[in-house]
Amino acid sequence: MISVRGLTKRFGSTAVLDGIDLDIAEGERVVVIGPSGTGKSTLLRCLNFLDRPEAGTIEVGETSVDVARATKREILSLRRATAFVFQNYALFANKTAKENIMEALVTVQGRPRDEAERRALEVLAETGLAEKADSYPAALSGGQQQRVGIGRAMAIGAELMLFDEPTSALDPEWVGEVLDLMRRVAEQRQTMLIVTHEMQFAREIADRVIFMEGGRIVEQGPPGQLLEAPRDERLRRFLRRVT
Ligand code: ADP
Ligand code: MG
Repeated sequence: MISVRGLTKRFGSTAVLDGIDLDIAEGERVVVIGPSGTGKSTLLRCLNFLDRPEAGTIEVGETSVDVARATKREILSLRRATAFVFQNYALFANKTAKENIMEALVTVQGRPRDEAERRALEVLAETGLAEKADSYPAALSGGQQQRVGIGRAMAIGAELMLFDEPTSALDPEWVGEVLDLMRRVAEQRQTMLIVTHEMQFAREIADRVIFMEGGRIVEQGPPGQLLEAPRDERLRRFLRRVT
């Protein structure tokens, strides 16, 4: 359902993504791990065209894009097919929780405001934040802000949800509620690509774990195999550090 071939991204002379090949099946949950500076965020950002890759093809659902020649329309289509959950929530400070969720529905999807509002209220109820609809981000805890961030991605109904370390900016007390919401999203058979350092969560939620280093996929497999019986020495070293 999602198929990436030869995805390459350079910053200056270094290849931050060095020809990534990746297939993700519908409903599959894939967790990406790896040392920092290894290209994990760049991979997610390129799939959403927040960063522009130099080479490769990205296929999501009906949309197939040769990234070097991507037209505006193809880029918009990819953005519609993927939804991004940011480490730092990236909410608009001057918009309420409800308005933050409505924003993408109105601007990217072109939905009428009343329909967008209904959808936003529905999603706020699903995230357990119905009573916070009219609160501004500053009045919400970190955990609540990130739940709004996830709600915004849920509302879009994208084929693929991208999570870039969604709990790593949170105080420890808020991590649990955000992981709980992600579990609920996963139960709906939503296709998810998740960068996280929460190894216990990865073990529990992932159909497949990918270990990246130096802009490449070094090893991948079911969590039991990859985390319990890693083959690559770099992965072994990484796991000793984080677990
Ligand atoms: P990770 O998420 O695995 O920590 P990133 O994808 O954020 O890694 O970054 C990979 C590499 O690309 C790092 O060396 C980083 O410094 C570099 N990089 C990321 N974004 C930019 C940018 N906008 N300009 C220049 N270099 C960047
Ligand atoms: Mg990162």
